[in-house]
Amino acid sequence: MDSQRLLATFLDLVQIDSPSGHEAAVAAYCRGALTAAGCVVEIDDSAAITGSDTGNLIAELGGDGAEKVFFSAHMDTVSPGEGIKPVVEQGVIRASGDTILGADDKVGIAAIIEMVRVLQESQLSHPTIGILLSVGEEKNLLGANAMDASGFCGQPCFVLDSENQPGEVVVGAPFHSSFKATFTGKAAHAGVCPEKGVSAIAIAAAAISAMQLGRLDEVTTANIGTISGGSADNVVADSCIVTGEFRSLHEQRLNETGAAISTAIQTAVAGTGASVDVVWEESYPGFLLDEGHPIVQLALKAAKRIGLPAQVAVTGGGSDTNVFSKKGLQAVTLGTGMKGIHGLGESMAIADLETLTRLILQIALDYR
Ligand SMILES: [Zn+2]
Repeated sequence: MDSQRLLATFLDLVQIDSPSGHEAAVAAYCRGALTAAGCVVEIDDSAAITGSDTGNLIAELGGDGAEKVFFSAHMDTVSPGEGIKPVVEQGVIRASGDTILGADDKVGIAAIIEMVRVLQESQLSHPTIGILLSVGEEKNLLGANAMDASGFCGQPCFVLDSENQPGEVVVGAPFHSSFKATFTGKAAHAGVCPEKGVSAIAIAAAAISAMQLGRLDEVTTANIGTISGGSADNVVADSCIVTGEFRSLHEQRLNETGAAISTAIQTAVAGTGASVDVVWEESYPGFLLDEGHPIVQLALKAAKRIGLPAQVAVTGGGSDTNVFSKKGLQAVTLGTGMKGIHGLGESMAIADLETLTRLILQIALDYR
């Protein structure tokens, strides 16, 4: 591994703007780097579906034998992520100005590029390396969703996209659903004839009051995210829109939580003269692998072999891993060591960047 080259690649990547939907420049950089390192690179035709200015990047470094193992990261970043100026201080990389750093997920891309360079330069025997760099991960996992992964079914895939430390393997993430409830009441003058009105806001409030929100159990959460309605202080509100989400590691608990929210809404509306229209959406499915699963064991053993405290973890957030699991890949997320993601304090320790790269190299070499 060439630490200077790895750091230079990471610094290059964070200085290429790639807000969700505008990943073309970073995709071009990755295509150049991966092609030079011996990969066959293609950009898929998902742009028409995602609306991004590029498709997902799918690459392959040929190996010996029939085995193939995938590594994945996402190319897009959240806002404010334009004009990022990285600063290195005492071994830690941060952004200098009023932006995020974009370690999420440029750290994953940098590690994958360095791994491929090392494998190509070395005479070591290795499996075929598949690389999936997605667009629009931060926008509801758009790129992974639009990716045709039918040819990758059953293959192992390590997604480098978690704030956990390198050596921690994220084996589970929740099912995620959201809803939008539109309450329709009846408008009336609030001072002259309020009894002629039906307040959609009051009914929405009653519904929300009857809901269990926050952390419902160790692996289940629910939240009301937005509420809007009404037109003026002197009008009984005839409309109110409430949106929210709920998550659980267990599909049954997800369904129970959705049913409870539905009951709260319907009970609040019943007998009031108001009506409600609820739209439910399963945003992404969860996944949960056993610690004994071969892919989990592969990652844990590779971590131990390079001296990391190997352990499994679960997360409350969603990532491309959720989508890849649904599409039939054997996917887990790897801790990267990135810190404070989606905020101005985002940072990445150079030591963690190097450790992550060493880890995926070891995983690639161990996979047989
Ligand atoms: Zn990410």
